[in-house]
Amino acid sequence: MNEIDPMRPFGGDGSSNGAHSGSGNPDQVGSTVAVHDAPPVAAGKVRLRFLGSGDNFGSGGRFQACILVDTGTTRFLMDCGASSLIAMKRAGISSAAIDAILISHLHGDHFGGIPFFILDAQLISRRETPLVIAGPPGLRQRAHEAMDVFYPGASGVERKFRIDYVELAEGETASVGDLIVHPVRVIHGSGDPPYALRVECAGKIIAYSGDTEWTDALRNVAAGADLFICESYFFEKQMKNHINYRTLMAHRAELECKRLIITHLGEEILNRLGEVELEVAEDGMEVIL
Ligand SMILES: [Zn+2]
Ligand SMILES: [Zn+2]
Repeated sequence: MNEIDPMRPFGGDGSSNGAHSGSGNPDQVGSTVAVHDAPPVAAGKVRLRFLGSGDNFGSGGRFQACILVDTGTTRFLMDCGASSLIAMKRAGISSAAIDAILISHLHGDHFGGIPFFILDAQLISRRETPLVIAGPPGLRQRAHEAMDVFYPGASGVERKFRIDYVELAEGETASVGDLIVHPVRVIHGSGDPPYALRVECAGKIIAYSGDTEWTDALRNVAAGADLFICESYFFEKQMKNHINYRTLMAHRAELECKRLIITHLGEEILNRLGEVELEVAEDGMEVIL
């Protein structure tokens, strides 16, 4: 593992536009997009915000998968769905303020926001610090293909910031800046290996299922986690590749996490939230760990 300066774990000089201090950019004055500082995270705490808690089809008007985590030294996204740049702007988060993006699997509602994020970082927030994007094998190629389909030639353009793609090997712990990321193989056809992610940051463990049908691997993903974020696309409808609430409840006792929040909510479960006995994510919801 490389030695890491805890104050600058991602190697930036901290002086680029808006990185961790969006309001300082004079270009933003009078802008219709408010980019503002979030209050600092209390020492020893990690702040997490659901920027997107919806499914791939925007059910309930929710944004696609995107979770912002701020450890005080590092800000990262878990997943960056096609709508995530919009969700970030709604929350006042600049693309220059994100050190790393961790991707669970290569479906559009989880990584489709990368082209927009990168173009915004290049042209709008004028990022200068390196960006790390970590995810399954195939990530770099799929991200480049997505960029070039949407904006031909975009993947090869010279930028003022470097992008380091980290392709995570199944079951192998990797350090991403000052984050320790453990990818666990789950069951979800997406062209390349789908992962649940366990992230150690600032002394906390955040576990995230990504998309998957029930697999016993989720027990290990959740074990000892301060927070386990689990998809629950449906209430009781059975569908390959996804978990429903009834199945999750049947396995609830096997999940030894301190807190469990469900996300990736489709129309059917959104219509039955009154019957749900678990904590449910909402866009904009903040959690302090
Ligand atoms: Zn998926
Ligand atoms: Zn999904």
